[in-house]
Amino acid sequence: MKKASIDYSKEHLLVLEKDPHFREELLRTLSFLGFKADPATSVSQALEMLKENQFTFLLSDLTGPDSKRLKVFHDVVLNHPEVSVLVMTTVPKGYPYKEVISAGASDFVKKPFEAGELEAKVQRIILDRDRRAELSELSITDSLTGLYNQRHFYTRLKEELARAKRQFRPFSLILLDLDDFKAYNDTYGHFAGDEVLRSFGGIISNLIREGADSGYRYGGDEFAIILTEADRGMAEEICRRIEKSLEEKEYNASMGYSTYSTGMTVKGLVEEADKALYKSKLRIPDDVG
Ligand SMILES: [Mg+2]
Repeated sequence: MKKASIDYSKEHLLVLEKDPHFREELLRTLSFLGFKADPATSVSQALEMLKENQFTFLLSDLTGPDSKRLKVFHDVVLNHPEVSVLVMTTVPKGYPYKEVISAGASDFVKKPFEAGELEAKVQRIILDRDRRAELSELSITDSLTGLYNQRHFYTRLKEELARAKRQFRPFSLILLDLDDFKAYNDTYGHFAGDEVLRSFGGIISNLIREGADSGYRYGGDEFAIILTEADRGMAEEICRRIEKSLEEKEYNASMGYSTYSTGMTVKGLVEEADKALYKSKLRIPDDVG
């Protein structure tokens, strides 16, 4: 395993250990290895700290079978999916390993611990975690444009709708479609066509707010944007900016948007944006049917 590829300084470990001697030794070792680590002396303190900080690991003592502690691990895994749980125990033999792993812990370390073993286990958990994150990112990404794909579009749209209902905040949806893309493909070939799709994906990525809005390749030459906490004015502004970016390009796109209002469904939002898109495609002004 190559250590150089893992940046330990990105990890933040919470060490839950009552024994002060062992706790200090553990913190010293972790800090020597390059990890950021903080101590907790009780379960309630650890849970409080997990809520307030962004930890990536919980290293927790577990002396003897303790069903209450197992429940805590389970809750941590459910409520903080970004936290990997590593259990340290003085009872290596006969301990219900299966139960601890079922409760969501990633692995076991024996007490007293060996620094080498501890490091190897933490390393493996980091590599597994990062690989899983990469795969899940790939499964929702459109490989050509780097935008999200259609599958993720519906997931996010549902989430955004639920949030808008809960918080009484508007959000908007823009649907976009390249004009005469088939003719472009037929004339210039598929490589040139792909280049247009990539370029349009780039325009979308550049114009939306990072960390708030999200861009999607819906399929073929159709795209979508979900604008968080955005009213009609904001949706219009984004459409206007996209049109402006297209002025210097050799292709064009039509677009339509819808803005959430109470009682709207995912289907309703998509249909309304789709109708507006269709009108824009036919170049029908807004005030005509
Ligand atoms: Mg089209």
